[in-house]
Amino acid sequence: MARGTLHRPLLAQDVESWDIETDVAVVGFGASGACAALEAARAGASVTLFEAGSGSGGASALSGGEIYIGGGTDVQRSAGFEDTTEALAAYLKLAGGPDADVAKCDLYAENSLAHYEWLKEQGVPYKGTYLPGKIIEPPEETR
Ligand SMILES: Cc1cc2nc3c(=O)[nH]c(=O)nc-3n(C[C@H](O)[C@H](O)[C@H](O)COP(=O)(O)OP(=O)(O)OC[C@H]3O[C@@H](n4cnc5c(N)ncnc54)[C@H](O)[C@@H]3O)c2cc1C
Repeated sequence: MARGTLHRPLLAQDVESWDIETDVAVVGFGASGACAALEAARAGASVTLFEAGSGSGGASALSGGEIYIGGGTDVQRSAGFEDTTEALAAYLKLAGGPDADVAKCDLYAENSLAHYEWLKEQGVPYKGTYLPGKIIEPPEETR
């Protein structure tokens, strides 16, 4: 009998029997997998998450959790800053240097506000603290 491994999966045609039936199979329960699973479930699909680790999180659980958002959020406005999608896209392209992927910068900027609202809908808390100056990693209590 052919056996798959984590690193050498079987072709679907070689699988003799299936244990689980699902509309959407999400492989990996980090931030990307969690977002995909939430949206698939919200669209009415049955979702099964597969995680190779002993728990969820992956690199996402190790990260500083900083998510680049702009384009005119409520936090920016309340701190007295006007921002636009175009200005965010222009900044991303400049920050990315000569090799910046222009289409990705535009797409990121166009969806920035929607992603921010989506994160808040999922319960991600934002304190809305304004920290002047350039800060790589904000102190824990200000996040
Ligand atoms: C220390 C650190 C700090 C960071 N800080 C930031 C930050 O502040 N802001 C930022 O934007 N980014 C940051 N990053 C980068 C960010 O964490 C990653 O880009 C992001 O978490 C990737 O998310 P992901 O869901 O794609 O992958 P992951 O979160 O790594 O999730 C992938 C999951 O898939 C599982 N998996 C892999 N293969 C299989 C398989 N065959 N079957 C089943 N499961 C599998 C893994 O075990 C893992 O749980 C940081 C990264 C590190 C390491």
